[in-house]
Amino acid sequence: MPKIKIAVIGAGMAGLKAASTLHKVGMDVTVFEKSRGLGGRLASRRTESGHFNHGAQYVTARDPGFDAFLQQATQDNAAQKWHPDLHRGSPPDKVFSTPATHAGNLAEKQWYQGIPQMNKLIGPLVQPFEIKKQHRITSIEPITARTFMLHDDLDGEFGLFDGVIVSAPAPQSADLLRPLSSRFDPIDDVIIAPCWTVMAAFEKPLPTAFDAMLYPSPEISWAARSTQNNDIFHRRTPDHWVLHASPSWSRDHLEEDKERVIEKLLAALRTASGIKLPDLQTIQAHRWRYARTETPLGKSHLNGMNGRVIAAGDWCLGARVEAAWRSGQSAAHAMIETLIG
Ligand SMILES: Cc1cc2nc3c(=O)[nH]c(=O)nc-3n(C[C@H](O)[C@H](O)[C@H](O)COP(=O)(O)OP(=O)(O)OC[C@H]3O[C@@H](n4cnc5c(N)ncnc54)[C@H](O)[C@@H]3O)c2cc1C
Repeated sequence: MPKIKIAVIGAGMAGLKAASTLHKVGMDVTVFEKSRGLGGRLASRRTESGHFNHGAQYVTARDPGFDAFLQQATQDNAAQKWHPDLHRGSPPDKVFSTPATHAGNLAEKQWYQGIPQMNKLIGPLVQPFEIKKQHRITSIEPITARTFMLHDDLDGEFGLFDGVIVSAPAPQSADLLRPLSSRFDPIDDVIIAPCWTVMAAFEKPLPTAFDAMLYPSPEISWAARSTQNNDIFHRRTPDHWVLHASPSWSRDHLEEDKERVIEKLLAALRTASGIKLPDLQTIQAHRWRYARTETPLGKSHLNGMNGRVIAAGDWCLGARVEAAWRSGQSAAHAMIETLIG
């Protein structure tokens, strides 16, 4: 009997969790990813000064299944716990030049990061199924009631597939799914906030006792050393920091150019700190048009076309990597139920 053929669109946590679950039950899975790398918003960028984690900063688990995934990833050297000295938005004079101490650490105990970069967290899900990188899928064409052809932006055609899982952020999923069925209309109610991110490599360590700060200023919702670097007495140089602008600031400055965004967010950090920031070795900005879910779908996945086309992604359940993992798993189980019973 020929193998069941499934296409998964998107190689972030949701898509790869779905793909690996379907591969394990013997389906023939092909993943299509528009970018050059895997991981989606579990993102890392290489610069001349080293790597930055400029998307998700850390991962937590409430679901026992995801907790087990993180434990296994830790054993496989794909993840490790992170205990930053965390500061939650207090007056600036407390943020900088506070005597170095771990006593102020408010971080929850079970924070994990991918190692050596965040995108490595998806490593355990990458199995011997085909992954077609740099393939942006532009449409899903039903050929019969049970088969589908995919088209990409370079006029490529792929298929036929017996089922398709779409795991792009909600607005991009809606573009692909709206033409297929009104069952996907609820995706339009999902709201995802943008996030401007600045990656700065300072030549000398930033003189702060903290590795991570929540809302150090109205413009900045998160500022943190980009990679594990908690040894306050032996800070590595250059000192890599990632700044995330707040959702409202990001919305207000969505179309601004990168140079202006860098200028403004560095100025905000300078004002919050009240100090002269060390010289910069590298600085870059990245705009996440779809970063953190504000209004989720409220269910783990959405299906149409007799259960053969399924939408998944963090936006179904929330704003976290765990939500993406759970949604990908549940989409795969729904596909198995439809095609195998
Ligand atoms: C700045 C920022 C900070 C964050 N901080 C945290 C945090 O600290 N903790 C936490 O738990 N979560 C955090 N998140 C959220 C977390 O990153 C996401 O919840 C999670 O990574 C989403 O996974 P996903 O698989 O659903 O989507 P994505 O990771 O977005 O994956 C979707 C993939 O689909 C691909 N794609 C889209 N359209 C197409 C197409 N047409 N064809 C082919 N491929 C396509 C994309 O390139 C992408 O790789 C943060 C996100 C951002 C942006």
